[in-house]
Amino acid sequence: MPASMPIVNPAYIGRFAPSPSGPLHFGSLIAAVGSYLQAKSQHGQWLVRMEDIDTPRMVPGIDSDILRTLEQFGLLWDGEVLYQSQRLQRYNEIFNQLQRQQLIYACQCSRKQISAMGGTYDNRCGALQLTADNLAWRLRSDNVNTHFTDLLFGPQQITTQLAQEDYIIKRRDGFFAYQLVVVADDIDQGITEVIRGADLLPMTPRQQALCRLLSAPLPRYGHLPLAVLQPGFKLSKQNHAAAISQWPETRVMRKVLSFLGHPPPAELEQAPVTEQLSWAITNWQLAKVPLQMEISSTEFR
Ligand code: GLU
Repeated sequence: MPASMPIVNPAYIGRFAPSPSGPLHFGSLIAAVGSYLQAKSQHGQWLVRMEDIDTPRMVPGIDSDILRTLEQFGLLWDGEVLYQSQRLQRYNEIFNQLQRQQLIYACQCSRKQISAMGGTYDNRCGALQLTADNLAWRLRSDNVNTHFTDLLFGPQQITTQLAQEDYIIKRRDGFFAYQLVVVADDIDQGITEVIRGADLLPMTPRQQALCRLLSAPLPRYGHLPLAVLQPGFKLSKQNHAAAISQWPETRVMRKVLSFLGHPPPAELEQAPVTEQLSWAITNWQLAKVPLQMEISSTEFR
């Protein structure tokens, strides 16, 4: 297991939490590097967690491929990699606790019914006390605080409609949902700060609310702008962004650091990734990260 720098600040624990549904792409490398630099610039720990809870979507062997790519880019994690697929017992415990507290309820509504509601669930099964098998389970979201302060984007208010939707924590097919497991893991791993892509920013109040229900301290949250090819088009596995492990590391790392507002100086342009990273650790300031990143559509094909 690779070990990174000696830990001097036990008060900082950050993480990178890829879903092993495809190889690491440029967008996820930005999240990896941003969270790594934020942790290491504070001499904290940087953990890696495989979000492999959604088993049907997982591609076998991709977890090792992701870990190899992280190593290739000099992103050495602390401790053991946590696999969500190994933690079902813990998720069940939390589920049972929420059930005892009557904070969750079973829901029979189909996707079609929800789109007829305008796309946001109207919490209609909350009063029904359904008990059949094969139902989804939703967390009651009354009184969710819709405000939070993001470390990069500043004060945020999420639309009340989204924040107050009772959301699924266990799916009808029996799988625990991302919203439950991400919070359970952040709590159990003692994460003090979550640095991740801005596509997850609107989910933050939900996750904070669940943390409060589980009487756990809230981590701080900071969201990195997404690399977009053109306005509104996220670079992701789904639109076939090429796997970054195919490109020369030095060049890719230089691009990632530039997108994160920390272009390495000219003398490091051709330097090995580890040297570029050490420079970035020393010079890292979250305030320098631009809130918008655009790349030309031909740059990473
Ligand atoms: N697994 C999620 C993803 O790959 C990230 C979850 C998180 O950082 O909270 O998009």
